[in-house]
Amino acid sequence: MKKHNFSAGPSILPKEVIENTSKAVMDLNGIGLSVMEISHRGKDFQAIMDEAVELFRELLGIPEGYHVLFLGGGASMQFCMVPFNLLEKKAAYLETGSWAKKAVKEAKNFGEVEVTASSGDKNYNYIPKDFRIPSDADYFHITTNNTIFGTQIKEDYDSPVPLVADMSSDIFSRPVDVSKYGIIYGGAQKNLGPAGVTFVIVREDILGKVSRTIPTMLNYKTHIDNGSMFNTPPCLPVFTVKETLKWLKNLGGVEKIQEMNEEKARLLYDAIESSKIFTGTAEKESRSMMNVCFVMKKEYEDLNDEFLKFAQQKGMVGIKGHRSVGGFRASIYNALPLESVRALIATMNEFEDCMLNK
Ligand SMILES: *Cc1c(COP(=O)(O)O)cnc(C)c1O
Repeated sequence: MKKHNFSAGPSILPKEVIENTSKAVMDLNGIGLSVMEISHRGKDFQAIMDEAVELFRELLGIPEGYHVLFLGGGASMQFCMVPFNLLEKKAAYLETGSWAKKAVKEAKNFGEVEVTASSGDKNYNYIPKDFRIPSDADYFHITTNNTIFGTQIKEDYDSPVPLVADMSSDIFSRPVDVSKYGIIYGGAQKNLGPAGVTFVIVREDILGKVSRTIPTMLNYKTHIDNGSMFNTPPCLPVFTVKETLKWLKNLGGVEKIQEMNEEKARLLYDAIESSKIFTGTAEKESRSMMNVCFVMKKEYEDLNDEFLKFAQQKGMVGIKGHRSVGGFRASIYNALPLESVRALIATMNEFEDCMLNK
């Protein structure tokens, strides 16, 4: 049976990206060797790294003065690397979910942390508004898409201090004005590639301002100076990221994918809104285009497990909600086809009809 993959991460990749990766694992461009068994310092891998960086720059319109790095450690490593490199006295954070909270916790190891605003009062079901970014902070940290709670910041904030963004789960889902950010980072495994590689876009002039000694591997400058090759980079994941970006470019780039993402999200949210048994958890204004969270209405809560089972029989994968929200979460990342959204909606409608006409 056809599977519809709504997993939150690692998550769906375009079929041709997986096919091209499989081919390169067997034989890279007919050189008679696997992409996994060649030197990262040889010309074949250097070409892959260069193309991945170039596609990043081109598709996001990254201006001069910024570097694109491919590192290990996941987005979680950036929770400590950011303050290590930037926090001298005080940092400010927008607390919009579990990942943001983890970032705050790490920053506290390095200096004073101000939580400028939080949506913790309503289980993170909205993005705070009307807060002021403190101009005496070393930087302001945001999580643009809250993978667990299904909320998203869909604009590029004006910030008086370097803006640092965890874009793990919405990078390349919409155009971004990179010039408004000091650092953009994320794990690849949501919208970009397999687990194992972390991207960092960093503006060089915000670095070198803290007085502490930074361990070599945790210093952005090390990786800038060595083109992400100070040590062995995650070669195979970098290859797959490059393939995903080629796929995105052929499709029409971030403007095009944004249109497609908006259509998928609109269809699914409309279906949830018009349902008699399901209801969304995030406030309408703050809803994510990437992770759609919904639950059973109170009077139908006992149908939770039954719907999960029903959906699974219909080929739906990964729609169980995160334990901190419950219910269901459909992750509709770039690579998820419209057809899968339609299949999920049909499944929800069929289930609803069954239950209401019993
Ligand atoms: C998944 C996720 C992370 C954690 O990423 P790792 O690469 O596993 O460390 C951090 N932030 C956000 C927004 C995420 O979705």
